Amino acid sequence: MMEKYCSHCQKTKPVREFYNNRSMPDGLSYNCKPCHKASNTKSFIKHKQKRLESNRLRLQSLIQEFITAYGGVCECCGEVEWTFLTVDHMTLGSRRPHKSRGTLSMLYNLRRRGWPREEYKLHCFNCNLGRERLPNRTCAHKKEVTHGER
Ligand SMILES: [Zn+2]
Ligand SMILES: [Zn+2]
Ligand SMILES: [Zn+2]
Repeated sequence: MMEKYCSHCQKTKPVREFYNNRSMPDGLSYNCKPCHKASNTKSFIKHKQKRLESNRLRLQSLIQEFITAYGGVCECCGEVEWTFLTVDHMTLGSRRPHKSRGTLSMLYNLRRRGWPREEYKLHCFNCNLGRERLPNRTCAHKKEVTHGER
């Protein structure tokens, strides 16, 4: 037998187009080499997507846990919608743009230490990012208040 039918691409190809596979009756793999490779890549991508998805879900549930542990409201403007709330590092000097992986390990670390209130504050994205843009790193909400008082 010098040719074999590949049911995947539905072509008959010479046997050298197939990998050896001892568990098959004819000693050749079920699909031809290109199909075999293609299906491997596909399952690899699928696997990766699955992992990313489970990471995302884990991060989401950790964030919700974090928000609950830190009172569930923005310390500045009182925002309670959890999708607007974010992790806010009080030691501003060590601020770095958070990658989701870094956030995940940071949240795990915080949870392990019983959510230390003195290190982190809960802020909404508005207050968190708005503050970054101002030179004194105080939220515009707070600035208005101090202006009003003076
Ligand atoms: Zn094929
Ligand atoms: Zn806020
Ligand atoms: Zn604010």
